[in-house]
Amino acid sequence: MRFVNRKVALVGTGLVGMSYAYALLNQSVCDELALIDIDQQRAQGEAMDLNHGLAFSGSNMKIYAGGYQDCSDADIVAVCAGVAQKPGESRIDLLQRNTEVFQSIVGPVVASGFKGIFLVATNPVDVMAHVTQALSGFDDHRVLGTGTALDTARLRYLLGEYFSVDPRNVHAYVMGEHGDSEFVPWSQAMVATKPILDIFRSRGVTDYQKDLDHISEEVRNAAQKIISAKKSTYYGIGMAMVRITRAILGDDHSVLTVSSMLHGEYGERDVYAGTPCIVSRDGVKRTVELTLTPEEREKLHDSCELLRSVYRDIRGV
Ligand code: NAD
Repeated sequence: MRFVNRKVALVGTGLVGMSYAYALLNQSVCDELALIDIDQQRAQGEAMDLNHGLAFSGSNMKIYAGGYQDCSDADIVAVCAGVAQKPGESRIDLLQRNTEVFQSIVGPVVASGFKGIFLVATNPVDVMAHVTQALSGFDDHRVLGTGTALDTARLRYLLGEYFSVDPRNVHAYVMGEHGDSEFVPWSQAMVATKPILDIFRSRGVTDYQKDLDHISEEVRNAAQKIISAKKSTYYGIGMAMVRITRAILGDDHSVLTVSSMLHGEYGERDVYAGTPCIVSRDGVKRTVELTLTPEEREKLHDSCELLRSVYRDIRGV
């Protein structure tokens, strides 16, 4: 008989971190969950609250507030810690402060002897994943960001509504930065195995581009719309993180649009960006290189250039 203890250490028990933790518990994805936060009292309160739901869950998870020493035998360290943007603060200033937050986290995690996979959700997520890789010195396949996983889920939902098809039968991706320069490679969007551009052609529809542009805009602006309505977004990203966690712990080899280091795929390198990747127990097993049109490659290149330039401006990595 083989006993396994699937363990996640979560750093940052704010709204995103705890939405992830709550979804981990409800979906019984791991056996042990350590909650770590600079605000230890908060982590303790969250651990108590989750533990009080155990009797109603289908899981017997061990949940506790811990410290960085608890990362030593974790399979995944998920990082959702961060500071909020101050009024008038520039994006790069915020990035600099979040880099300092990550310096206080990644060093102690590595010092614990952690040998697993880093999963980063803190924004700007592509750059913070790159920062984590640089600070940890880990082989880059062991450091991934949530990338455009959530944007891709939003896209599949909207296309499902548009075509009246179950989103799980829609295969389409958002690629590039998790942010304004992200884009949808429509040449690669399918319902079942039929390209959606062929569906339009077979129906004699010629003016579809405005609908596709509208859907891309809806995806790009989704976070801002939610933030205007309820100040922040957390359930969707928490569930996206659980999906990635499940793929890692189950060695599923699932195709997910995580943020990973590119090594010449699409002609890009030295940059973390969201592209479809095979995710397994090794983290990013490999990138699935799609056959993009020249225009789509250019969009990916522009997005990667932006991410490279933002990363270059950070001090201390
Ligand atoms: P939050 O303010 O609710 O939580 C942040 C937590 O980090 C707090 O509990 C805080 O105490 C902790 N923290 C701060 N500094 C720390 C340190 N040095 N060490 C340990 N813990 C520390 O914020 P949130 O709403 O949970 O958002 C967290 C991050 O997730 C933000 O960067 C947000 O932009 C990002 N986010 C990402 C996505 C995505 O798609 N990747 C989606 C939504 C939000």
